Amino acid sequence: MKNISESQIDMVIATRNSGKMNEMWKMLSETTYNPLSLDDVQINEEVEETGVTFRENAILKAKTYGKLCGKLTLADDSGIEVDALDGQPGIYSARYGGEGKDDNDRNELLLKNLSGISEDKLTARFRCVVALWNPINDASVTFEGRIEGKITRNVRGSNGFGYDPLFFFPEKNKTLAELSIQEKEVVSHRGKAMREAIMYLEQNESSLRGD
Ligand code: IMP
Repeated sequence: MKNISESQIDMVIATRNSGKMNEMWKMLSETTYNPLSLDDVQINEEVEETGVTFRENAILKAKTYGKLCGKLTLADDSGIEVDALDGQPGIYSARYGGEGKDDNDRNELLLKNLSGISEDKLTARFRCVVALWNPINDASVTFEGRIEGKITRNVRGSNGFGYDPLFFFPEKNKTLAELSIQEKEVVSHRGKAMREAIMYLEQNESSLRGD
């Protein structure tokens, strides 16, 4: 639980994914904005992701959660696209294989679905859209980031979350799960989208404050 400071502008980070939360919280803590969790603003509702693009879902989450608390709200919609699977799981990354599965189950399923696929077809990318909803004018702006890489044959590394242990990033010769949170932030889809969002937040601070 966080103290709500008066001089900083409160901003809700609308996610229940602890991996995303750690990454976004860390980046926002280094700004003049005051990050808050959904628990900090007593939101228990879940938003159903009915959009058909990352952008639609990011806006849907930022706006719906934002309206519930009346504060500046940031949401991320992200996922992994595998070329050999025609871009799947994409926006369904968190739901790959259906309900009741955890990250390990989803990684196993992805490996199973890629067995027999030749090495050169294992190219993939993470994509992230960050949406920022402004309570003053009920408008949303979005920022995007991506990272290109390849799916490995075996999980490697224990940092990060989700598909990180399967996502090999050639420039570092490591999976994202073998990078520290700081190293991942520099190169990742979320790090890139968040840096764009933070630049916007810094440039528009007085209007976002309602001055
Ligand atoms: P969302 O909550 O619908 O945006 O689902 C995002 C899902 O995509 C996560 O649950 C992960 O499975 C996957 N994902 C997104 N970003 C990352 C990442 O940085 N590392 C690993 N998996 C990710």
